[in-house]
Amino acid sequence: MIDDLPPLREVIRRHDLRAKKQFGQNFLLDLNLTARIARAAGDLSAADILEIGPGPGGLTRGLLAEGARHVLAIEKDPRCLPALAEIARAWPGRLQVIGGDALAVDPLAHLTPPIRVVANLPYNIGTELLIRWMTPPDWPPFWESLTLMFQREVAERIVAQPGSKAYGRLALMVQWRAEARIVLTLPPEAFTPPPKVASAVVHITRRAEPRFPADAGVLARLVAAGFNQRRKMLRAALRGQHPRIEALLADAGIPPTARAEEIELERWCRLARAVVAAGPA
Ligand code: SAM
Repeated sequence: MIDDLPPLREVIRRHDLRAKKQFGQNFLLDLNLTARIARAAGDLSAADILEIGPGPGGLTRGLLAEGARHVLAIEKDPRCLPALAEIARAWPGRLQVIGGDALAVDPLAHLTPPIRVVANLPYNIGTELLIRWMTPPDWPPFWESLTLMFQREVAERIVAQPGSKAYGRLALMVQWRAEARIVLTLPPEAFTPPPKVASAVVHITRRAEPRFPADAGVLARLVAAGFNQRRKMLRAALRGQHPRIEALLADAGIPPTARAEEIELERWCRLARAVVAAGPA
């Protein structure tokens, strides 16, 4: 037993926490598993942890038992709050819970760096949160690492390499400024209720500097345009981006007939620099 609290099945029964689809609820009830996810996040003892969507608190308990200095957990479903209050009482001064929507709450006022984010995310907001965390106005971001559960297909898109079907905007925008790897893959049966597909935990650590220089906004715009029409040749997919796009592609070493998925990060960054150097259209 990793703490003195009752088993999660009992917590769920007592607080009547039947999973609701509207909240994207698929709970992890095996505390050995949640402890493994917590350990995948690195050294927790010297960090404040932001957890999104603690639900009945399985991962929260894993984080605390693995020594997290402080956990701030944001949960939208008010039914979960009494169960989380019990965990806060068992770990005095270590867990703060905010009831609300993680997309609307600003957690930074409640956290002291270094900060790590650990979450079994609700699938409906997972990629939106990841993009937000990867695209702050300034770099480095507020977090040192993100350890996040996604549908396996999304996790594979995050770590994908050029030429693969999964390679696209998510891979480029994450790998430009961070290192990402899949640390755990879980079958649907690991969750209650089981989702339709497998899941995977991705561990992302920020780089001090982006891998190659580029303006974040320009890079994001080019990559989005290129992959929006991923079957088209880049000279067509990027036509609206600059009147001299063919010349700029050549400057970046990109054949105008190439498709977005064939181009690795370095040349996307070169293209972003060429577009900036060419000045306004
Ligand atoms: N962490 C728990 C676990 O591993 O068992 C629950 C994970 S469950 C996949 C996602 C959790 O996020 C649910 O508890 C759900 O109520 C919560 N949630 C959904 N949308 C949210 C939002 N916008 N803000 C904060 N929490 C949200």
